[in-house]
Amino acid sequence: MIIQPKIRGFICTTAHPLGCAKAVAAQIRYVKNQGHFQGPKNVLVIGASTGYGLASRIVATFGAGAKTIGVFFEKEADEKRTASAGWYNTAAFEEYAHQENYYAKSINGDAFSHAIKQKTVDLIKQDLGKVDLIIYSLASPRRIHPDTEQIFSSVLKPIGQPFVGKTVDPMRGEVKEITLEPATQDEIAQTVAVMGGDDWAMWLDFLAHENVLADGITTLAYDYVGPTLTYPIYKEGTIGKAKEHLLQTAHTLHDKLKKYHGQAIVSVNKALVTQASSAIPVVPLYISLLYKIMKEKGTHEGCIEQINRLLKDNIYVSTVPARDKEGRIRIDNFEMAPDIQQKITALWPNVSTETLSELTDIEGYRDDFYRLFGFNVPGIDYTADVDQSVGIRSI
Ligand code: NAD
Repeated sequence: MIIQPKIRGFICTTAHPLGCAKAVAAQIRYVKNQGHFQGPKNVLVIGASTGYGLASRIVATFGAGAKTIGVFFEKEADEKRTASAGWYNTAAFEEYAHQENYYAKSINGDAFSHAIKQKTVDLIKQDLGKVDLIIYSLASPRRIHPDTEQIFSSVLKPIGQPFVGKTVDPMRGEVKEITLEPATQDEIAQTVAVMGGDDWAMWLDFLAHENVLADGITTLAYDYVGPTLTYPIYKEGTIGKAKEHLLQTAHTLHDKLKKYHGQAIVSVNKALVTQASSAIPVVPLYISLLYKIMKEKGTHEGCIEQINRLLKDNIYVSTVPARDKEGRIRIDNFEMAPDIQQKITALWPNVSTETLSELTDIEGYRDDFYRLFGFNVPGIDYTADVDQSVGIRSI
């Protein structure tokens, strides 16, 4: 099959196996170049196939030499369609990990379900005994509650009042004004049910019940804060409410894990192009501007640089790392640096369709977006026929 990108709104419905593999290889190379560190031994990553979760799995394996189990929800290829990017990423990740004799097994299915939690516990018991790091990096538009089978959908909306602001269609290069109506109470509650901490707590409770948590267990989940210009749609919007719930859950889990001398931590990460973030209004335009300014300053990072810094310099260190007043680790510190944010505030009003390429790094945004799906990767011949059916070794 000759595989070209097919963009539908903010998603690409095709993915390229060789491009995905090359992008994974580049992340592995980065981690190896940063050097080995004393880190976790047995790691479970929930949401392990793309974005921050994939980077977490790569850093744990190639930075700390850990054994990993990755859980995700991806599509395998058939005769007519390519697999999803996360499927190809994982196929490549396992290949590279196995070549270097690292244990890596994967579970594909709905992480919100009891069945996948049970399957994961069975695999931990069979192969690892216990886990000492659990990374919760799910981003999903919906969740089927495992007890009630109620379907919750998350929405990206402001709360209390409508939001009027600028957003970009990155593929067309058009800056437009959008108006978003405020969420209803039910929409807020549903977003919290999907993207809050409820399922993270269910995982930890189940793993504790099944006695697979090692002494000193650490569990991490990821948050985003961002600048005031995205507050109405992020921090103070429906997703922000879900993240508040995630933080409360971290505090509850932290207390529960004391008996294991463990910890539950939320890390605030940088805004980056991922499948999840491209769906959020306003954020892609902000990211395009942010990329330009951070690249100029030389502080730009991707998921892999972020997570390498998180695990190596902030979690697996002998001194207690700095936290913000909510107890979170802030690896978004370069993004939030006052000089960066002042420039964004000053330039934001001037960004329009006409000034987009001059003022922002919209090209860099687009490039990263294509790369999520294995496209625009240097050295890949996209006119060549490739076999779309790629297996994941452990599945
Ligand atoms: P992503 O879309 O790249 O990854 C989501 C992962 O969740 C994938 O592995 C996917 O397979 C998995 N997943 C989704 N639904 C699932 C289900 N039902 N069962 C099993 N797996 C499922 O997202 P991302 O941007 O890496 O986000 C991960 C976390 O990081 C989120 O909590 C997000 O809010 C946070 N975060 C993201 C950014 C950003 O800019 N992208 C910044 C800070 C924090």
